[in-house]
Amino acid sequence: MRTLILNKKSRANASASYRRPGRHTAALVLLLCVTGIGAFPAVAYADDDWSAPFQLLGRDTAPGTKNKFQFIDGQSFEASYLNSPVFVARGAKPGPTLCLAAGIHGDELNGVEVARRVFADLDVQKLRGTVIALPAINAEGVRTGNRYLSDRRDLNRAFPGNAGGSVASIIAHAVFTKVLNHCDALVDLHTASNNRANVPQIRADLSNPAIRELALHFGVGIVLHGAGPSGSLRDEAAKTGIPVIIYEAGEPLRFEEDEIARGREGVRNVMAYLDMTDTAIQKVSEDQVYQKSKWVRAPRGNGGFFFPARGLGDIIRKGDILGKVIDPLTDEVYEIASTLDGVVVGVAVPQPVLSGYGLFHLAWHDSI
Ligand SMILES: [Zn+2]
Repeated sequence: MRTLILNKKSRANASASYRRPGRHTAALVLLLCVTGIGAFPAVAYADDDWSAPFQLLGRDTAPGTKNKFQFIDGQSFEASYLNSPVFVARGAKPGPTLCLAAGIHGDELNGVEVARRVFADLDVQKLRGTVIALPAINAEGVRTGNRYLSDRRDLNRAFPGNAGGSVASIIAHAVFTKVLNHCDALVDLHTASNNRANVPQIRADLSNPAIRELALHFGVGIVLHGAGPSGSLRDEAAKTGIPVIIYEAGEPLRFEEDEIARGREGVRNVMAYLDMTDTAIQKVSEDQVYQKSKWVRAPRGNGGFFFPARGLGDIIRKGDILGKVIDPLTDEVYEIASTLDGVVVGVAVPQPVLSGYGLFHLAWHDSI
């Protein structure tokens, strides 16, 4: 049974027809779904006038149309950091607003392409609701292959931002105050960081029932529990009550077809779950849900050249040799052994490493 929880009461803004649920609503709906009492729709929405254009950032998007524009039309030296693309698809029929974020880390290209393809695929005549995509929030980073902004700040630690702060903080604040207030659910699209790769995975705070259901209904890859670091879009959006998940797949600085295809499928699954489309609802099984994860790192004093022996998705037993680090000056070989049973969800590519560098990200089942 679908268990997305949305409140029928409208926001003051007629163009934003959904309202996020309070905890009591969430608990009640979950209880009824678990017990099978009542036939709750996947989504419920207010009777807003859907014939009016949807307004975002001063632009109108009529029902049954798509629109692409820049975040701002500024002319100052710093305006280029804020003129990232904004895609809006207003379905012909009422429904929730799904937001897609990508390119917060400018080098994480798979997510940028997932957002672009999903948006290009949308049939607005059949779509129920609205899709807002910010496919390259750190537009400068996407153009230059840079994870961070030009001032070397991490945009994904700057949320919710500050209008009087650094460029990162200004961008975060603009996204937070001008776009996120429209979102009924959010999928933030990422890849692994520099010189690492991730198995396709959803990261989400599984202690939140609405977020857990959204994560499972991505329907693709594994699900990994975690609230996300303070200042990240995920953590800060969740604090405001928006069900938010992260899709992480592959490595930065390249387009990887398999990871893009899975991301595209996952977002389609989310739209089906939100009752925005008529495609079949998918849900990952509980054995694909991992509550705990941990990095296995290069041991102190054993830096060198790293060569993995195990790869993404491999099932690991305690004591298994995961890889080795060779000191090129002494030819000494240090074998990296697993200290637990789990699955490899992230791995560093072969490269020179120093003490403490994260080599293998292992996840395992546990209760939270
Ligand atoms: Zn990222």
